Amino acid sequence: MNEQEPSFPQARTCTFCGSPNIVEELIVKASVDHEMVGLVYRTIGFLTSTEPLFADLCSDCGTISRFFVRNTDRNWKTR
Ligand SMILES: [Zn+2]
Repeated sequence: MNEQEPSFPQARTCTFCGSPNIVEELIVKASVDHEMVGLVYRTIGFLTSTEPLFADLCSDCGTISRFFVRNTDRNWKTR
């Protein structure tokens, strides 16, 4: 068996413990004010909006295996 099997991109395993029990697309929120955490992008002029951030969680050890946004086609605001 080769360790680098490219065949099943959906079958994720935890990068820390190797568990296949990954809960996907959890919504990331700030605990204090219950606002969503996300990446800021420019809309029109000086207006900005936030692309929600999602996380995949290993339900065995609690490791967050990835953060991601659904829509990457944004005018991302940097410093
Ligand atoms: Zn794990």
